[in-house]
Amino acid sequence: MKNTKYVFVTGGVTSSLGKGIIAASLAKLLQERGYSVTIQKLDPYINIDPGTLNPYEHGECYVTEDGAETDLDLGHYERFLNIPTSQANNVTTGRIYQSVIEKERRGEFLGKTVQVIPHITDEIKDRIQILGNTGDFDIIITEIGGTVGDIESLPYIESVRQLLWEFGHENAIVIHLTLIPYLAAAGELKTKPTQHSVKMLMQSGVSPDILVCRTEYEISDSIKNKLALFCNVKKEDVIESIDAETIYDVPNLMLKEGLDTVVLKKLQLPHDRQPELKVWNEFLMKFKNPKNTVEIGLIGKYVELHDAYKSISEAFIHAGAQNEVKVNIHWIHSEELTVKNVPKKLKKLNGILVAPGFGERGIEGKIEAVKYARENNIPFFGICLGMQMAVIEFSRNVLGLKGANSTEMNSNTKYPVIDLMEEQKNITDYGGTMRLGAWDCILKDDSKVRDIYHKEHISERHRHRYELNNVFLEQVEKAGMIATGKNPKTNLVEVIEIPKHPWFVGVQYHPEYKSTVLNPHPLFVDFVKATLNHALSQPTNH
Ligand code: GLN
Repeated sequence: MKNTKYVFVTGGVTSSLGKGIIAASLAKLLQERGYSVTIQKLDPYINIDPGTLNPYEHGECYVTEDGAETDLDLGHYERFLNIPTSQANNVTTGRIYQSVIEKERRGEFLGKTVQVIPHITDEIKDRIQILGNTGDFDIIITEIGGTVGDIESLPYIESVRQLLWEFGHENAIVIHLTLIPYLAAAGELKTKPTQHSVKMLMQSGVSPDILVCRTEYEISDSIKNKLALFCNVKKEDVIESIDAETIYDVPNLMLKEGLDTVVLKKLQLPHDRQPELKVWNEFLMKFKNPKNTVEIGLIGKYVELHDAYKSISEAFIHAGAQNEVKVNIHWIHSEELTVKNVPKKLKKLNGILVAPGFGERGIEGKIEAVKYARENNIPFFGICLGMQMAVIEFSRNVLGLKGANSTEMNSNTKYPVIDLMEEQKNITDYGGTMRLGAWDCILKDDSKVRDIYHKEHISERHRHRYELNNVFLEQVEKAGMIATGKNPKTNLVEVIEIPKHPWFVGVQYHPEYKSTVLNPHPLFVDFVKATLNHALSQPTNH
C-alpha cells in the first residue's frame, strides 16, 4: 500500500490554457523518474458524462477500457503515460449530484438536510480519493476543470481546501496554471491577471504552491520575482510554460523549468533520479524530421472543430513518426462531397479515412468517398461509422442492393445491412447505452489485419449501437468483402477488408483510443505505410 500524494491543478485567467497537457507532462516526468502516477479530471458541468455532448461543444468523447465516456483530456493522459485510465479518472458535477441524490432517495442521510457542504463536497472528496485508496499510485494529479472564480467550480475548490488541510502540506499541493498576456502596445508581459486569479483562489482558502505561467514570450527573472512577491510563492516555484511547437515538447520544457523537481521537493519525495526520456525523445526526433509527406483525407461531419477527432489526429502523429513521414491531414466535410466533385476533391490524397459519427447528416458524401477509394485503389480506413459506410457502399454498388442502408439512417430500408442488435432495440435512453469499452476480437488467419497485429486475439474499444447485419454477410463475402475479425462470443463483425484492394480495412471499434507515443497503433502505422507506398507510386506528387 503506497502513501499516495496529491497534486491539484487549478486554472486561472482564462480557459483553454492546456491544464490537461501540463498535468500529463508533469505526470510523464514523474513516471519516468520511477513513480507510479495517474491523472484525474473533475469537470464542473452538469452532464453525467460527455457521452451525450455534441462534439462541437466539447470535442471528442474519449472512451476508456471499462467503457466510460469521458473528457478528451483522458486521451492525452493515456497517450503521454501509456497506461489505461478508467471511470474513476473522470468525474462531472452531474455524476456527483446523481449519486448524492440517489443516496438521499435511499434514505442514507438519515433525515438530514442535504447541502453542498458537506454532502456534495464529501462526494467530491470521496471521488478524488478512490484512485488513491487503491494503493497503486505514488502520486495522483487531479485536474479541476474550468477557471477559478467560476460559480460551478466553487464546490471543487472547497473540496480541495478541505483535503489540503486533511492530508497535510507534505502530502498535497496545488499548481495554479495561469496566463501572462503580452500587451503589444506596451511591449510588455503583464502579471496583473495572475495576481488577481491567485487572490481569487486565496479567497476560497487555497494558496497555490506553484504557478505555471503560460506565455508567448520568455518570462524574465524580474517578472518571476514580481509574481513570487505578490502570490506568496518562491521564485523557483514560478514556472514558465512558453508556447510549444507540439504538445509533445511540453514534458521537456517542464523538465528544463524544473517543474517535476519542485513538485517532488514539496511532496518530500526523493528527486535525485532524472527522468528517462530516451524513447520519448526518439519519437520527437522522428516526428520533427520526416523523410516524406503523405496526404490523408479525414472525411467527417465535425471537421470544423479538429478536437472532435483528437484521438485520430494524434494517432496519425504517432504513426507518422514511426514511418518517418509527415501526415498532412486534409479535413474534408462529408456534406460537401457529391458524386460529381469527389474525383476533384479527393484527387491529391494518398489515403482516405472515413471517420466515426452519428446520424444521417453527411453520410452520402462518406459513401461517395468510400466508393472513390475502393474503385481507385486508394488506401482506405473506415472507423466505426466509416466501416458501416464501407459496407453500405459495397452492398449498393457491388451487390446491387439499391437503397441498402443502416437502420440508423433509414429504418424502412429494404436492405438493412447495418442494423441494431436485438438487445439494443428496446433502449430509449441515449446516455451510456451503447456497446462501450473493451471487447474481444478474433482475427482470421491469412488476413491483412492478422498480419498487421501479429496476433490472433485482440481487444479494442467500442462506442456504437449498430452492427453489420449477419443476414447479409454471406452475400457480402462472396462478392469480395471479407469479415476478418469477429467477436468470439456474439459473432458480431468487428473488421472487414477487401483482399483485392491494396489497403481497404474497416473496423467497428475505435483503434485511435489506444494509440500512444510509446505504442503507436499498428493499424494506423500500417495505413500510413500504405499511404506512403501510394505517394511514392505517384509520378507527379513527389
Ligand atoms: N452511429 C453508428 C452507431 O451507433 C456509429 C457510431 C460511431 O461511429 N462511433 O453504430
